[in-house]
Amino acid sequence: RLYNEVIELKGNIRVFCRCRPMNSEELSKGHSSVFEFDPSQDSELQILTTENSRKQFKFDHVFGPQDDQGRFAETRPMVMSVLDGYNACIFAYGQTGTGKTFTMEGTLENRGVNYRTLEELFSFFVSMLEVYNERIRDLLPENPNLPSKKLEVKQAAEGTQEVPGLVEAQAFSIDGVWELLQAGARNRSVGSTNANELSSRSHSLVRVTIRGENLMNGAKTRSHLWLVDLAGSERVGKIEVEGERLKESQFINRSLSALGDVIAALASKNPHIPYRHIPKPKHSLSLSLPSSPLLTLFLTWTISSLGIYSHLLSAIFFHSS
Ligand code: ADP
Ligand code: MG
Repeated sequence: RLYNEVIELKGNIRVFCRCRPMNSEELSKGHSSVFEFDPSQDSELQILTTENSRKQFKFDHVFGPQDDQGRFAETRPMVMSVLDGYNACIFAYGQTGTGKTFTMEGTLENRGVNYRTLEELFSFFVSMLEVYNERIRDLLPENPNLPSKKLEVKQAAEGTQEVPGLVEAQAFSIDGVWELLQAGARNRSVGSTNANELSSRSHSLVRVTIRGENLMNGAKTRSHLWLVDLAGSERVGKIEVEGERLKESQFINRSLSALGDVIAALASKNPHIPYRHIPKPKHSLSLSLPSSPLLTLFLTWTISSLGIYSHLLSAIFFHSS
């Protein structure tokens, strides 16, 4: 309840920035950090630009290299509101190598947002899917040896978005939750940092479904929490030349910029939210897809001005009723 009051007061979108520590390669090459922030001003971040000037960005909170997963992945308030029957979405946006997968999936020793969120819940169904070149792939298929089924987004009678045929798994213990997330992550073609790896060219989505009851009127509720690791944002605005890469880039650019338009409209309280608007591709490759599954599934925002800095990650916590 308290959280909902805060949401009421502050609007329903939260944007956090996480700056990862420099890695050994960056240190050995003598790179220096492009950001400066004062822990007493924990919502402001100063960026040193290539022209040696400073730019200031404001977030709901800035997390620095010293902030560990436990501190970052404090999602309890959102979990509470999902249990209250609200829908919510948490997603990580940033260039490849900025720490999106580390933040969302994490490692056995440093478990991420996905696990920490599910750990808070006792009864739920979970589905995992990947959107690659605007096609949906089930990451928890009943039989991983069979070619994946063709999945599509459909609008259900009550106005929610559904993916008929998507497997809904149930975990019965905390260990089961981790196993399940790991199984889905393994099916998500190759992890880590190389910009050419498939994981940076696809969007990975975990959907948690909570069934409950509204304590006020006894109505049955069904709410979703989406936990999303977006494709690397580095392609936005960049022209790629090769065939397959060009196609992927166009799909990623289109979906991330469409998400940007949606969030911009939500943030400015624009009465028209372009959920179904699919921007025209900028390059001359013919694309004949009716709508963007990623966009139809949930909404987001790009912070393109931060996109050029390789160790900054913007995680956007989106909350809607
Ligand atoms: P992305 O998914 O954005 O491409 P990754 O999550 O794969 O990036 O992170 C790139 C590398 O940096 C990985 O080796 C990851 O373990 C490491 N890393 C990312 N964020 C952190 C962090 N906050 N602390 C320590 N290591 C991190
Ligand atoms: Mg990744």
